[in-house]
Amino acid sequence: MSRIPVGILGATGAVGQRFISLLAEHPWFQITDLLASERSAGKRYGDVVKWVLDAPLPASVAELPVRLAQPGQADARVLFSALPAAQARELEPAFAAKGHFLFSNASAYRMADDVPLVIAEVNPEHLNLIEIQQANRGWEGFLVCNANCTATHLICTLHPLQLAFGIEQVMVVSMQAASGAGYPGVPSMDLIDNLVPHTYGEEKKMHTEPLKILGALENGRVRFADFHISAHCHRVPVLDGHFEAVSIAFSRAATREQIVEVFREYRRLPQELGLPSAPDPAIVVREAMDRPQPRLDRMTGGGMATVVGRVRPCNVLDWRYALLGHNTIRGAAGGSILNAELMLYQGRLS
Ligand code: NAP
Repeated sequence: MSRIPVGILGATGAVGQRFISLLAEHPWFQITDLLASERSAGKRYGDVVKWVLDAPLPASVAELPVRLAQPGQADARVLFSALPAAQARELEPAFAAKGHFLFSNASAYRMADDVPLVIAEVNPEHLNLIEIQQANRGWEGFLVCNANCTATHLICTLHPLQLAFGIEQVMVVSMQAASGAGYPGVPSMDLIDNLVPHTYGEEKKMHTEPLKILGALENGRVRFADFHISAHCHRVPVLDGHFEAVSIAFSRAATREQIVEVFREYRRLPQELGLPSAPDPAIVVREAMDRPQPRLDRMTGGGMATVVGRVRPCNVLDWRYALLGHNTIRGAAGGSILNAELMLYQGRLS
């Protein structure tokens, strides 16, 4: 089949670069439009981007012109958004109103009632909110969001546990990579030899986004999952890969063997359909006492899997475990691309 043209809003940033690297050889999508701010517009992409990924900038993309992120500037109907939240708030609805299909990483509309906040394995049925969104807003296009990068990997591990045992309470302590703050992000003199016990706005996202995604779509609304999360979020001097230490109370008793088994057997729609970006397995359990680690485990499943380790009893809640996931791949660009693959497979991108 011929590849579908796609554009990237915020193409020069940390997440925009991930989109380029993941889409350059994609079997279903072809990058045709790169959009960014006035700083970059009108220039050749290769001249304006400060490329920060290990993989080289694809030569074909380097030659593309950057256009100003404004409706009317993109030819592709499918757009991946890596805009900062303030710009996304203004621009994403404007593109959707013009008939574009937007897959956004920004937080601006994640919690809006008629915007699906989707992890393809967890709640693909929430995509049915799109009809309500289009009716509410008079859009020919639509906006689908994916979750905050730290929340994404937490949710990927909570979902199989919710299905198997029910969840009563979650405590989570994050150690988040520098790239999670974009480029150039946190000043090096704040982060080297240090830890910053605050990541702007992340704790609120960790308290709310999982409950929407793990909630049920009923009568055109999401009924949020009914448990509480307490999150402590920290920035650490790691380049890529968010680590999280989780304590959890279940509704039903579980053994260690059962917990490990439900993680290992977690296969959902993207795996069953064999979507190009779907990691299989979606969750990898490491038994070594000192895993997962960012440098060693973040590229598991091409950066799309969540890696779990140290499943052990908790003295306060029921069980504890550690998790690690790539923040700009599964936690951002890769998660958006997987949502778009699912919708293309379902015939919803035409
Ligand atoms: P970033 O590195 O700061 O990149 C921001 C991008 O937005 C750049 O391409 C920039 O273009 C463009 N931009 C800025 N102002 C603009 C304007 N007024 N009009 C049009 N384009 C504009 O940020 P990032 O880390 O890639 O994050 C992008 C989005 O993804 C944010 O909403 C972030 O919260 C979200 N997110 C990030 C991560 C992560 O791990 N980094 C994970 C999940 C979600 P110029 O270069 O031309 O200025």
